[in-house]
Amino acid sequence: MSLRLNRAVEAIAAATCEKAFPEEGCGLLIGPVPDDFDKPGRVLAIDEARPLPNGWDSSAKTNKYLIDPRTLAKVEAELSGTGRGVVGFFHSHPTVPAWPSPFDLTMAMPCCSYWILQVKDGKVADSRSWQRTEDGRSFIEEEIVLEG
Ligand SMILES: [Zn+2]
Repeated sequence: MSLRLNRAVEAIAAATCEKAFPEEGCGLLIGPVPDDFDKPGRVLAIDEARPLPNGWDSSAKTNKYLIDPRTLAKVEAELSGTGRGVVGFFHSHPTVPAWPSPFDLTMAMPCCSYWILQVKDGKVADSRSWQRTEDGRSFIEEEIVLEG
């Protein structure tokens, strides 16, 4: 189980999260949808990070993020038939560690990667990627592989 990212994807996500500090930044992770997407051990090769606005009211943006489902549906429609899809999400944790919050768990979908970037003093300090367990009770960490 791993998440493969190229340098451009990493740079876009990092810039989005640093710009959003001290609020949470967020966006979509797009790439080919593998045939074994729902199987343990699947590998996602992300070829695009698409930043989106954090949909919460400003008071809530410091500790959670919201991706507008209408925007998500539009992107899914745009990618329909291409073999690519939204296979994960990235968001930042201002100051706190890159471990999923209980709120992150309630929002998480199976199979997708949840890449969390910790931002400290406006700079990315750590990042970790997670996948929800099938029973929805927790996350397991997956390997991040930087390519190119
Ligand atoms: Zn979070």
